[in-house]
Amino acid sequence: MHHPQVGDSLDELDTPSMIVDLTLMEENIDRLMQRFREKKIHVRPHLKTVKSPELARRLLAAGAVGGCVAKVSEAEVMAQEGIDDLLITTEIVGKPKLSRLVTLIQHHPRIKVVIDSFIGAQELNTALHEAQLEIDVLIDLNVGQNRCGVLPGKEALTLAHYCSKLPHLHLVGVQGYEGHLQHIHSPEERTQRCHQAMRLLTETAAQLRFEGFPIEVVTTGGTGTAEICADYGGITEVQPGSFIFMDTDYRNALGPTYANALTILSTVISRPTPTRAVIDAGLKSLSIDSGMPEPKGLPGIEYQPGGDEHGILTWTKIADPAQAHLEVGDRIELIPSHIDTTVNLHDHYYAYRDGMLEAIWPVAARGKVQ
Ligand code: PLP
Ligand code: MN
Repeated sequence: MHHPQVGDSLDELDTPSMIVDLTLMEENIDRLMQRFREKKIHVRPHLKTVKSPELARRLLAAGAVGGCVAKVSEAEVMAQEGIDDLLITTEIVGKPKLSRLVTLIQHHPRIKVVIDSFIGAQELNTALHEAQLEIDVLIDLNVGQNRCGVLPGKEALTLAHYCSKLPHLHLVGVQGYEGHLQHIHSPEERTQRCHQAMRLLTETAAQLRFEGFPIEVVTTGGTGTAEICADYGGITEVQPGSFIFMDTDYRNALGPTYANALTILSTVISRPTPTRAVIDAGLKSLSIDSGMPEPKGLPGIEYQPGGDEHGILTWTKIADPAQAHLEVGDRIELIPSHIDTTVNLHDHYYAYRDGMLEAIWPVAARGKVQ
């Protein structure tokens, strides 16, 4: 059996496979880094998108100050590969996780975490006390997403004062991620609502500083809002993740700012009727939480999952030449609708340039949800 290797032609690759157009990916990285370099804002890309130390390394080489991860288990994967200037953007609660975190920061002291509750802060402090360690923390603010986070203003100040009584926690910043605004199509509305969120975040940072807290990090922003956040003033760092590969959900909202650099390569395995083709990529290859993936370069053809392992392509206008030519054995690409949940389904990235495999990267943090 032939295992795919660097130098192979893309045509030899088995399907379904997650493939990356390296030229487009590199352009996405360069474009984003260039914009924030001009703005003098730090970029700490969210690595929950790529889940790959190799790609994290590329982002760092391009100018990222460090990375964000969502979970302790993702931080473990990155840290093991020497990528340990990390912010874990999700609250860490419960003995098993705290114990993993403590083990991790023994050797990786630059890891920062977020807190949004008295109990969470106190239990973190206790776990660190037992190990005689300290950690930098950020207060997580709810700036409108209504997920985690204390309310801006008084609630944040109260938590900060509580935190100052916990000797193993050092408050260094605030996080206020506006996830609810990322996919707003109208640039005006996205900008205006993002400004409201940034006002809550920066005003709270100012109040905390006024009360003597050394707030160095004010972090926020995803692919849809990072630039708006950066231009607002008072933000030190942005955390976009999806820009590196994009997806149809973001493309539909943002236009062609960044290119769709990742697709799922699949094969037509059946052509049962004149208006139906079946491919080998179903729910286990492509996520559908943000809508249906899009067959690349095949306008008028729609994808729907045909179960775990099949995808069904349908069309109504038989006359279209692209459709008429779809045959058993043809290989087509699907653009994911949501990049994060699709990447997490695959073992490897197959990265190519000019039709040839140039790199194969494991999705090393795949399934790392703890
Ligand atoms: N920051 C946080 C806290 C997030 O949860 C996310 C994504 O959900 C991001 C940043 C990155 O967002 P995106 O991948 O949409 O750029
Ligand atoms: Mn996402």
